[in-house]
Amino acid sequence: MDVTTDTLALHGGTPALGPGDTIPGWPEHDDAEEQAVLGVLRSGRWGSTHGDVVATFEREFADYQQAAHGICLVNGTMAIVVALRACGVGIGDEVIVPPYTFIATASAALFIGAVPVFADVQPATHLLDPAAVEAAITPRTKAIVAVHLAGRPADMDALAAVAARHSVAVVEDAAQAHGAEYRGRRVGAIGDVGTFSFQSSKNMTAGEGGAVLTDDERAANALYSLVNVGRVRGGGWYEHTSVGYNLRLTEFQAAILRAQLARHPAQQQVRERNATLLTQLLGDVDGIELAQPDPAVTAHGRHLFVFRVPALGAAGTRDAAVRALAAEGLPGASSGYVPLHRNEALMRETRAVVDRLGQPYPEPDCPVADQVSTDTIWLPQPYLLGDDEFTHRVAGAIAKVVRAAAALK
Ligand SMILES: *Cc1c(COP(=O)(O)O)cnc(C)c1O
Repeated sequence: MDVTTDTLALHGGTPALGPGDTIPGWPEHDDAEEQAVLGVLRSGRWGSTHGDVVATFEREFADYQQAAHGICLVNGTMAIVVALRACGVGIGDEVIVPPYTFIATASAALFIGAVPVFADVQPATHLLDPAAVEAAITPRTKAIVAVHLAGRPADMDALAAVAARHSVAVVEDAAQAHGAEYRGRRVGAIGDVGTFSFQSSKNMTAGEGGAVLTDDERAANALYSLVNVGRVRGGGWYEHTSVGYNLRLTEFQAAILRAQLARHPAQQQVRERNATLLTQLLGDVDGIELAQPDPAVTAHGRHLFVFRVPALGAAGTRDAAVRALAAEGLPGASSGYVPLHRNEALMRETRAVVDRLGQPYPEPDCPVADQVSTDTIWLPQPYLLGDDEFTHRVAGAIAKVVRAAAALK
């Protein structure tokens, strides 16, 4: 085979990204984070039971997301657990979740003896399909978890309508959606409770961490108690009025998060600009399918840049394409999720729960998730933090691999 500029790097060609095309580092940090951490260290108040940095960040983050109440905790996984519990979900209750998401969205239900029930996603956006949710409702359904996957808000109007018709709660899993907006309102307290993650890969991070937001004061009190060993705000140290976990965030993490929150608006502008440019550049490439903008999505969280290449799915070469992208200089390119209804551990555990309770096993039927999981590729958010030239190179690498798809096996 002739080696031309079109020859894939995987096959000996020249990579689309050269040594000068540095992938933006993540997380971004400077003197602000250093001073914040040192400040906590020197204060000697390292936990939120003694300091006030967590409380300050809770206020700031709730304000940022336009929610009345914010409670921080250890991670986004436990955030979903306490959100479900604050919505009254317990043993044997069914929780409708999408299959195309991080495993925590479903495992959170299992942790509290509840049953995750999968409703399919929409092919263009990978987001929960409200019609599939409605079809999955049973008398045991207690909550719907809407995942704002990639930072794109789910169809909250339609999901709220389904929830209202059946008197079930809506939890927003906004782990990927800091700063995202639906019809001009930030996500998190659009549903009953919203959950966030500050894990290393997320658009706002302290290495680990999470938050739950709500406009409902009763839910906020329940969340506080669940995170703080059953204590009530203003109550005594050994006054445990409910059985709660200890899920508290440390003051060090909150100090970093305050600095990261200050960076977020400017970072989002860069991500938005680059995602828009990438969308334009890839719009001309045959075979690439991108989710169309939706007027209801007034701000996209831009956590992942997701696209589908159906021909790669049909040929069974999507994973080869991801390896080819890595060789072109995009090692962060990903084949995305294995749908959760295909995860044996989750399904085994679900089976065990319903068998013990004598409840029916919710047989999953998610053909769209099965399909999109064969042909989806995404880039994580740091790839959206470069300059125009870098973004052009990224688009060039993707276009090169998709055009050469026939050479992949
Ligand atoms: C990251 C993530 C979580 C879990 O958050 P952790 O902080 O890693 O526990 C849950 N749901 C989604 C959609 C996520 O992306």
